Amino acid sequence: MPSITTDSSASSSGIRIIPDMPICQQDLPLDWYQDEFKPYAEEYLALPDRLPETVLPWMDGYVRPALDHFGPSLMLLAHYYMGGEIVKLVERYGGRVADSYELALQAVDHPETKVFVESAVHFMAESIAILAADDQQVWITNPKSGCTLEMLAKDWMVEPAFDELRERYGEDLLVLAYMNTSGRVKALAGETGGSVCTSSNAKAIVAWALAQNRKIFFVPDRHLGENVAGWSGIPADSLFHWKGGDEGARLQIADLSPAARSRLDRAPMILWGSFCGVHTVFRPEHVGYWEERGYRVLVHPECPKDVVDAAHGAGSTKYLWNEVMTAESGERLAIGTEGHFVRNAREQAKLGGVEVVNLADVPSAEGSSMGCGCATMSRNDPPHLVAILDMLARGTGPDLNRVLPGDVVNETTGDRHRLAEQERRELVANAKVALTRMIEVTRAS
Ligand code: SF4
Repeated sequence: MPSITTDSSASSSGIRIIPDMPICQQDLPLDWYQDEFKPYAEEYLALPDRLPETVLPWMDGYVRPALDHFGPSLMLLAHYYMGGEIVKLVERYGGRVADSYELALQAVDHPETKVFVESAVHFMAESIAILAADDQQVWITNPKSGCTLEMLAKDWMVEPAFDELRERYGEDLLVLAYMNTSGRVKALAGETGGSVCTSSNAKAIVAWALAQNRKIFFVPDRHLGENVAGWSGIPADSLFHWKGGDEGARLQIADLSPAARSRLDRAPMILWGSFCGVHTVFRPEHVGYWEERGYRVLVHPECPKDVVDAAHGAGSTKYLWNEVMTAESGERLAIGTEGHFVRNAREQAKLGGVEVVNLADVPSAEGSSMGCGCATMSRNDPPHLVAILDMLARGTGPDLNRVLPGDVVNETTGDRHRLAEQERRELVANAKVALTRMIEVTRAS
């Protein structure tokens, strides 16, 4: 196993908290909290408002002692898609806001950190755990924070398809797993000598895979797959679309028509059929609407290909954030990505005289479909952050919030399936192959 070194330390997002900027966007119902978290949530819900001067003193009472207790051995992490409250607060308490690629590398980049507390979705925390050393722990503020894209590509859905394809194509099959997959699916990629990719490096990873002259099985986002295939010169009509979710699990090559089997055999790239509900609300008409009004349109490549093709630019969360934060005063940008991100970007851009709108925010005659936030990621909120830090400092962190490689948590019930030690070690070995490949190819490119 090659050792991993990186230089990906997440820089500050540049987010500022100003006095009249609400800390919180939406309260969660009390029964959405784990039992251990409810006393903290009750205190929070009883606060008279969500302004910084009210919320911050309450948080400080718990968070400051926890930070003092752990010192530099603790790192707080959040993703840009988190509701505005967490990205603002995590940085205020010395933590980092990052995209999924940067998040995954934090344990490797910071061997001195022993406890990571992540406010984002489960697969992101699990990716950190896969690359973590034995003396590093990863905790998630809400283990039920899933990703709808990943929910249609669970290991028990993808594995039967993988078995079908492996039987037909043998060693020719190479799996590329988008970061938005569980460790179990990343391990499948590693098993084939494949790689993980993120939206920031998908083009480089697919270029690497094409150079291997093997058949690519791209899991799980069909839209990112179509976009990166287009950027890589792969004709759209040569792609084979495998179904997603349970349908994908049931699909058998023997049941395909002879014409479909022939297309499958000729396809350089097979795309699993999942998608992100947040990124598929955008339409080419939205791009046209804002373009006609002088806005520069930038989108995430999880959007449909016709939207990406129509936009002025497309790229990862980090790319979009950097474009907003470095825009000139007076510039106008329409952003097609997750709603909390756009709201955070709009607030921060306004401070520098830049106007940001949500790409989907157009009059109904133009086909409006309100851009939405990632509801599952937003299951992390200030009471979750306060509670987990206080409990960890007191040595009572709930085991459900500890993230080990291979953990699968039911996003509705919170039930968790955890692998036995030996199975976990095998998973880590395979998933590390795929993650390490991604890091090496990304750095080389
Ligand atoms: S925005 Fe979409 S792809 Fe990203 S974490 Fe949320 S559901 Fe998953």
